[in-house]
Amino acid sequence: MAYVITQPCISSKNAACLDVCPVDCIHPMKDEEGFAEAPHLYINPDECIDCGACKPTCPSKAIFAESEVPDEWQNYIQINRDYFNAD
Ligand code: SF4
Ligand code: SF4
Repeated sequence: MAYVITQPCISSKNAACLDVCPVDCIHPMKDEEGFAEAPHLYINPDECIDCGACKPTCPSKAIFAESEVPDEWQNYIQINRDYFNAD
């Protein structure tokens, strides 16, 4: 299980979530290559410890536990995973 960043992040990307993740599994970080170009941020499902700390920080309500991702954004579970597998 992991948390997942979904479509509402696309227009925001304010990165409040980055500051609270205890395992730094949200990418790209502000100083990482690709931050400016990334359409939104991604959570590494293999590193996320499922703590939930990021969810309440998101002003766009873009973050969900994997089991609670709304039907219309189910594809974001794979989109988050693919971002890390592409490296
Ligand atoms: S806080 Fe929400 S909108 Fe901002 S970068 Fe994180 S997931 Fe995206
Ligand atoms: S649930 Fe916790 S570990 Fe996972 S991305 Fe959010 S803050 Fe990081």
